[in-house]
Amino acid sequence: MENKSVKRVVVVGGGFAGINLVKTLSKDERFIVTLVDINNYHFFPPLLYQVATAFIEPSNISYPFRRLFQKKKNQRFFMGTLTSVNPAAKTIETDNGTLGYDYLVLCVGTEPNYFGLENVRRAALPMKTINDSLSMRNHLLMTMEKAVRATSKDERDRLLNIVIAGGGPTGVEIAGMLAELGRNVAVKEYPEIESFQAHIHLVDSGGELLGPMSTTAQKEALRVLTRLGVHVRLNVAVKDYVDHEVVLADGGRIPTDMLIWTSGVIGREIPGLPKESIGRGRRVLVDQFSEVNAVPDVFALGDIAMQTADVKYPNGHPQLAQVAIQGGQALAKNLIRRESGREQKPFRYHDKGSMAIISKFKAVADLPKFSFKGFFAWVIWLFIHIIPLIGFRNKVKLAFSWLASFITNDPTLRLIIGVRTTKENKEGL
Ligand SMILES: Cc1cc2nc3c(=O)[nH]c(=O)nc-3n(C[C@H](O)[C@H](O)[C@H](O)COP(=O)(O)OP(=O)(O)OC[C@H]3O[C@@H](n4cnc5c(N)ncnc54)[C@H](O)[C@@H]3O)c2cc1C
Repeated sequence: MENKSVKRVVVVGGGFAGINLVKTLSKDERFIVTLVDINNYHFFPPLLYQVATAFIEPSNISYPFRRLFQKKKNQRFFMGTLTSVNPAAKTIETDNGTLGYDYLVLCVGTEPNYFGLENVRRAALPMKTINDSLSMRNHLLMTMEKAVRATSKDERDRLLNIVIAGGGPTGVEIAGMLAELGRNVAVKEYPEIESFQAHIHLVDSGGELLGPMSTTAQKEALRVLTRLGVHVRLNVAVKDYVDHEVVLADGGRIPTDMLIWTSGVIGREIPGLPKESIGRGRRVLVDQFSEVNAVPDVFALGDIAMQTADVKYPNGHPQLAQVAIQGGQALAKNLIRRESGREQKPFRYHDKGSMAIISKFKAVADLPKFSFKGFFAWVIWLFIHIIPLIGFRNKVKLAFSWLASFITNDPTLRLIIGVRTTKENKEGL
């Protein structure tokens, strides 16, 4: 029989926010928590670009939810895609059925924003999910094979050109990694191709790389990438993609079959929430306790949420992992306080700083009080990206993969493995 005193918490999205909320609630059996996600695994977005460039395996940065919930009496996993919420009935709809809740927590994150550029949306390679990074890996390796077979210089140049739209941390990190791949690996493996120089273009509409970071970090990123042979094009936006060419706002064109999109994000749509609760960038407006404005018992966290009550962040928190992690933990503690009849605490984000890796042995770091760069920043970056990974085995595997790859400059993951459906396999497609 259903125990009415146990509160049903439905958490949609098992990213940083969702997983930290669930973990913090795990010891309190006054709650039964159901985590809903499209995938059956949690993954670590900051290292997607290393999967996309065949540097590490996807399993290094992913972890199955059901393994995480082993031996947890009050945790359930439900695989499904949220299709709508119904706050009046206190239910959600998914592609796999309806779920009822006492508290609903929405942490579905964001999706790429193509700013209405339809041709770009169709052609570009985004980097938001494990599938995106594997598609990019396959596309990169397939394009290299085509470049080997190209019959003219123009065709080969087009196939070798890579355009990265967006000079934020992800754009910078992938540009650096691709440049290293060209220098250290491609020259050895594609003897048919004379030169890999001058084929990576990093385009940003702003005046500097790493927009939200310090001037030290911005200058270092520009210096290192330029030295690696990356063409950095600032103050110009990608406007279109036509006939295998990226069209720039200044009229310039870059022939390419590989446009990587790291240019912006927009909140995922959540049908059923009132229009008044949706703000800029399609983020869900929440109060200081992360409760959705005008929708009681429904909360939003992480990238999807917009909280303007934190005095230091009147325009909302930055869309960063630490905001989601701290937000998930804070909401779990508030739900416990609520159940105990205690006063809730407003969520305040504590900035621990930000980092970006630019190339092998070089990174930049902005801590709240000072910035630094170079080898030391790179070592710290490695540690900081291992610690939050879920699962001890994943931490060890990643550390080992990095050690092997950085020493040899030659990971062996450059495999074109496409996922075929059972039907395709049977029909031999
Ligand atoms: C390539 C990349 C690099 C990044 N690098 C950094 C970095 O170096 N440092 C940093 O601080 N931040 C970085 N970020 C940002 C950071 O990853 C996000 O701020 C953080 O992941 C937000 O956490 P979240 O829980 O809100 O959302 P997410 O981590 O995006 O999780 C959303 C979850 O919701 C699930 N989901 C989505 N839609 C549905 C649906 N309809 N139904 C059910 N489930 C759904 C997804 O499968 C996913 O598990 C990076 C992001 C990307 C994409």
